[in-house]
Amino acid sequence: MSRRPGALVALAATACLAACSGPAQDPATTATGASAASDADSGVIVIDNARVFDGTRDLGEVSLVIRHGLIERIAEADASDLPEDADRIDHRGRFVIPGLVNDHAHVGNTRGTGHGDRFYTQDQVSADLRQFQAYGITTVASLGMNGSAFGEIRSAINADPMLGAQLYGAGGGIGAPDGAPPAANMGLADDPVARPADAMSARAAVRAQAESGVDLIKLWVDDLGGKSPQMTPEVYKAAIEEAHRHDLLVAAHIHDLAPAADLVASGVDIIAHGIRDQAIGAPLIEAMKAAGTGYIATLQIDEANYIYAEQPDWLDTPFLRNALPASVRAQWSDAAWREKKLADPATQTHRDALAVNLANLSTLREAGVRIGFGTDAGALPHRVPGFAEHRELELMVDQAGFSPEQALVVATSAAAQLLRFDDRGLLQPGKRADFVVLSADPLADVRNTRSIEAVWQAGRKVAGPIAEYDAQARD
Ligand SMILES: [Zn+2]
Repeated sequence: MSRRPGALVALAATACLAACSGPAQDPATTATGASAASDADSGVIVIDNARVFDGTRDLGEVSLVIRHGLIERIAEADASDLPEDADRIDHRGRFVIPGLVNDHAHVGNTRGTGHGDRFYTQDQVSADLRQFQAYGITTVASLGMNGSAFGEIRSAINADPMLGAQLYGAGGGIGAPDGAPPAANMGLADDPVARPADAMSARAAVRAQAESGVDLIKLWVDDLGGKSPQMTPEVYKAAIEEAHRHDLLVAAHIHDLAPAADLVASGVDIIAHGIRDQAIGAPLIEAMKAAGTGYIATLQIDEANYIYAEQPDWLDTPFLRNALPASVRAQWSDAAWREKKLADPATQTHRDALAVNLANLSTLREAGVRIGFGTDAGALPHRVPGFAEHRELELMVDQAGFSPEQALVVATSAAAQLLRFDDRGLLQPGKRADFVVLSADPLADVRNTRSIEAVWQAGRKVAGPIAEYDAQARD
């Protein structure tokens, strides 16, 4: 931290004008010059001349001044009064967006082609979070099925940006006895999910999770296509009331309109999946707008169940392949696996669910309902951390009518606000310096969010281009 008198700072800045500006050269050059080593100690970094989308709008070409992990100031490009002791990085021709915020993901639930609670270790959680981070997602909310070590792991991860994206979440979450989330299908041997049968146990479960320090409460309210008992209104109403007593947000997994509508009427804060059985009508839209309920569509969740078996032409792109453990790549290349998957009647169900989800998201966007960002990545091996988020953005733009800018607002500032973060999702003075450097303009084509050159978290460069990323820690 600089403690020099103002006059000296001004003098030094003037000296730097001559020494440190000058013609822009190759934008890839780190223009720190000979003073870089000593400047590194000052903790001041200037990202010069990047085209910045701040989470709400395009700022044009500006310079980001970063100090102690935070954005200190946004200066106009080529400003003459930037801190003279800064480590300067010329990003002319580059694009900077806030690190993405995923409001609905999971961590420590998969390894290779396997899944289950046996993978909930700090190493696997960190491997997932490093992959999210390498793909530009710098904050992840793990909505349930976290093991009992969640609080401990969260503390370790959030203390060191090199361990991955910042982790928040719902602990084990609250489901239905013998119902969702299905313990056998999800591989929950030592089931971390609380499954209260009545209002009193629901309140006790919320209190226990609140005491363990969860960031929000997750409920599963789904009869899994009529195959399982669904959490009763008595249980979820009690859980919501108790959570609000502890000032905790409540996010609910749903699939169908009817439980979603009753959850909104019961005060749930976030509908954590898209409604996929029928079109959303005016009464629910009005109720959500009146209550300020958030909605996370997770478009990718149904698509991921069949799209990789279809062998889309983008299956072989390095951006996706680099996110896959070798065992998952091998599975997806196996003709027998693909045929079985495509012949499964569930595949058509998932296609239909995606179509309804897209139409409903489009309706809610037009109606001005609060939209958050999530994918359910990490819950199962085909819900690929990092890739899923970029695919979600693409689906939002190509098939749900969002402009690239609207989709990026959802995935940054709106996603942060949905979880009540006021320190991220925005590149503004006082906010965390969590951002992604891109080589192509994401506002021109949202697929350009894949042109990742670097990811910064808390003012540190934590990842480079995706090609250098190695998914085998997840194999
Ligand atoms: Zn989920």
